[in-house]
Amino acid sequence: MVARIIGSGIAGIAASIRLAAKGYKVYVHENNSYPGGKLTAFTSNGYRFDAGPSLFTMPFLVDELFEIAGTPPKKFFNYTKLDVACHYFWEDGVNLRSYTNANTFAKEVENKLGVDQKILLNHLKDSAMLYEYTADLFMKKSLHKASTFLSKATLKALSKVHRFHLFDTMHGVNQKALQEPHLVQLFNRYATYNGSNPYKAPGILNIIPHLEHNQGAFFPHGGMHNITLSLVELAKSLDVEFHFNERVEKIEVQNKKAVGIWVNKKFQAADAVVSNMDVVPTYRNLLKEQKAPEKILKQERSSSALIFYWGIKNEFPDLDVHNIFFAKDYDKEFKALFEEKTLHHDPTIYVHISSKAEPNDAPVGCENWFVMINVPGNTGQNWDEWIAKARQSIVSKLSRLLNKDIESYIVSEDVLDPRLIEQRTSSYTGALYGASSNNRYAAFLRHPNFAQHIKALYFCGGSVHPGGGIPLCLLSAQIVSDLLPS
Ligand code: FAD
Repeated sequence: MVARIIGSGIAGIAASIRLAAKGYKVYVHENNSYPGGKLTAFTSNGYRFDAGPSLFTMPFLVDELFEIAGTPPKKFFNYTKLDVACHYFWEDGVNLRSYTNANTFAKEVENKLGVDQKILLNHLKDSAMLYEYTADLFMKKSLHKASTFLSKATLKALSKVHRFHLFDTMHGVNQKALQEPHLVQLFNRYATYNGSNPYKAPGILNIIPHLEHNQGAFFPHGGMHNITLSLVELAKSLDVEFHFNERVEKIEVQNKKAVGIWVNKKFQAADAVVSNMDVVPTYRNLLKEQKAPEKILKQERSSSALIFYWGIKNEFPDLDVHNIFFAKDYDKEFKALFEEKTLHHDPTIYVHISSKAEPNDAPVGCENWFVMINVPGNTGQNWDEWIAKARQSIVSKLSRLLNKDIESYIVSEDVLDPRLIEQRTSSYTGALYGASSNNRYAAFLRHPNFAQHIKALYFCGGSVHPGGGIPLCLLSAQIVSDLLPS
């Protein structure tokens, strides 16, 4: 049986491993000259940067791929649990570290914000409960098969459904439970982990902090890109064939069944086709003659990002691997992002410094800063003007909050914007996580992991169920592999 996968994003690679282990002959066709899609890296002036994802949670999902292939994971892929998930800074001078150990985090919150430890610990317990009762149903199975709703997982979820915050927003839940404004803002930020708006996203998304605080945030040895590199090697060891610089032009459908793909005007037959590219261009470009699921394709997209990769000729001992410098008015920032679709004048800034964990990522005495703000997706804005404006407000905010002239330390600069994200990964509008979760039905409005009206056509990756981000992409590959016949 032959499976052809379109795209070598993290879900495409994971699907290739699972299907090869299941006995398929697997071919991965990738438009770029390199694997990984968004999960890639580059070096500039002696500084190494992970270009896309920087936060690694649920590492056991990567380990599992090695185990399926019968290879001990630790031989090829290692990671360390971070003590500090993130260091947060506010304009009023407050700063606090969110420790991955829940008790230490609760103590820090009590010391810095005067909030009773029990309040935070109860909130994290609520997050753990959401995970325990909904993960099997919403993350590990297709939501579009009757069998899912007749399963034990559904019965388990139904027993606690009244506690899932289905009719409240993330902000509403955080405000009620935490009240202290810094802490509410900190927990609202978890909506951005799938590119959503905490003032609109349902409270059930409060499952996300569980991943960071109860399970932990991790750093892969060698950097995030090592996830891609080690999994590609694993796939190759299972005889998966990667074909780079191959843009798939069409999915061939005959008698309502996918029978292969067209690449460089040549037909390549398959028993199953798996699209790992964004579902919107899959339908618009590769399935032009087929009826597209318009309602799904027109879902609001998640946010995109503007990133400055700065080589910094200095060291900042107060900073950690992950750092956040909050906007003064978070509500206004999200209104600008999702409603006005403009650049907020005071954006929340994320600074990731992998050289804190991996010193070889920067020259001695220097640091590699990945400086990111959330921005609306690409709809033809004047990005060059926006980049110049954003750079100015970022430099001035970081200089103010760190009490240092940041501009004077920048010795190299590369920039990634939504246009480039779209160009390099075919992600529609440059969205980081496919569709947003800005309404309570979002989970059901993501595209299923199979085509409803075309047999032998499957979908994995950040734009389909269960959603974006590395862990969910890995789970989409698992769902696809479970759906394919042996
Ligand atoms: P993608 O990475 O989208 O790759 C799709 C692949 O398909 C690409 O390689 C593309 O070239 C290929 N392709 C497209 N069209 C064709 C065609 N016609 N023929 C052949 N190949 C084609 N996630 C986290 O978990 N943690 C984070 O900290 C995090 N931060 C992020 C920061 C940024 C800046 C970005 C961009 C993303 C971030 N994410 C993060 C999200 C995460 O990167 C994505 O959800 C995930 O990597 C998407 O993987 P994917 O499998 O959907 O494929």
